[in-house]
Amino acid sequence: MCGVFGAFAKNGQSVLEDVYLGLYALQHRGQESAGVAWINSRGTMHSLKGTGLVHLALNQQQLASIDTNCAIGHVRYSTAGGSELTNAQPLTATSSRGSVAIAHNGNLTNAEGIKNYLENRGAIFQSRTDTEAILHLMAHQPHKPRLDAFVDSLRRLIGAYSLAVILDSRLVAARDPWGNRPLILGERDNIIYVSSESCALDLVGASIIREVEPGEVIVIDEKGLHSIRIPKDVKKGFACSFEYVYFARPDSIFNGKTVYEVRKALGRKLAERAPCPDADLVTGMPDSGTIAAMGYAEVSGLPYEKAVVRNRYVGRTFIEPTQRVRDLGVRIKLNPIMNMIKDKKVVIVDDSIVRGTTCQRMIAMIKDYGAKEVHVRISSPPVRFPCYYGIDTPTREELAAARMNIKQLEIQVGADSLAYITEEDLIDAIGLPARDVCTACFTGNYMEGDHTDEMEL
Ligand code: SF4
Repeated sequence: MCGVFGAFAKNGQSVLEDVYLGLYALQHRGQESAGVAWINSRGTMHSLKGTGLVHLALNQQQLASIDTNCAIGHVRYSTAGGSELTNAQPLTATSSRGSVAIAHNGNLTNAEGIKNYLENRGAIFQSRTDTEAILHLMAHQPHKPRLDAFVDSLRRLIGAYSLAVILDSRLVAARDPWGNRPLILGERDNIIYVSSESCALDLVGASIIREVEPGEVIVIDEKGLHSIRIPKDVKKGFACSFEYVYFARPDSIFNGKTVYEVRKALGRKLAERAPCPDADLVTGMPDSGTIAAMGYAEVSGLPYEKAVVRNRYVGRTFIEPTQRVRDLGVRIKLNPIMNMIKDKKVVIVDDSIVRGTTCQRMIAMIKDYGAKEVHVRISSPPVRFPCYYGIDTPTREELAAARMNIKQLEIQVGADSLAYITEEDLIDAIGLPARDVCTACFTGNYMEGDHTDEMEL
């Protein structure tokens, strides 16, 4: 999972500080590296990348002093390729025909097939990211105008891609025909923005124009916005439902609804489907379960309490992994408030159970602190299948709900009861037609078109 952001100023204003701020607002989408690319007035491409959080990887003051009206940026969470700097994005390439830079969110499921094909014909890849396949596919079509070569390259891809691209001094936004990852357009004072989420548009003071449609390429230049379709028919849409459940920021808007509204609706559905009338209070696993917990409390009439506290600085500060620290495990990050839960029957809402270990340790800790009963409620269906589209899930064997039924899992994690919402509840809360939504990690219904060892171009 990653975040992309881009800006183009029609009146020549500098935009690189806006891109920095955009990445700052998208930090939750990737913490391993951050990078920017921009084109100067002579048409020369430049980039800066670094590892870690945005403010450590990039220098805001330096970026603010650079004069460019077209720039893109990327925050990375590695799923394809490791976390080394060579895999940081945007990827850039310069040839006699011009320069290109690409920032990519999503995973391509046929990238290996494309790479095998191109490597067998002499291509040399510099990184292990699937994104580089797009650059090589473009280079493979030297006879075509570059925008045509770009769109034709996208036609050959299977999987998830939301892209912010600089192509010959233009900003280009593109979204895969399945609409798997979000991508939204915004505008402020003659500057057009493209962003993974609308929360980043809020920070730069831009208003939403609209979302980039599945299968759409939007070219942004001095003349305005120009829309092109990727010539590829797909059987159904695959907008990631997990963006709503967990990944996106609650203040972001998809399809006219805030993620917050959807998460609260998921909690309400959970309370209807799996009530717990004898409980004393409802709490949420911070931060991903708290909004759904509020929805659960609203319908159930039980009091909502912030009974579990999260150390907000975990992940930003370095802590030596000694045996003592390893033994502390989840306690380093999360701590229940003993006085609130002692002798109480507690409902705890979380967004999902993946391996089951965090849930198991959390329940043990709540019981250690004196809770009488712990009832676990999950605001998504059981995660039984891995994601191949850009969210880092373990293999099927490691997924707790793939190995056990709900009753067995309840015993395994030590809950007094365990319940989930259904796929129908999830789709209903999102508010999109089922034919447009990806639920593959819950159902195993993946996109059509399998990856091959070597694709035919
Ligand atoms: S498999 Fe799950 S996490 Fe992956 S894109 Fe589909 S809904 Fe999202």
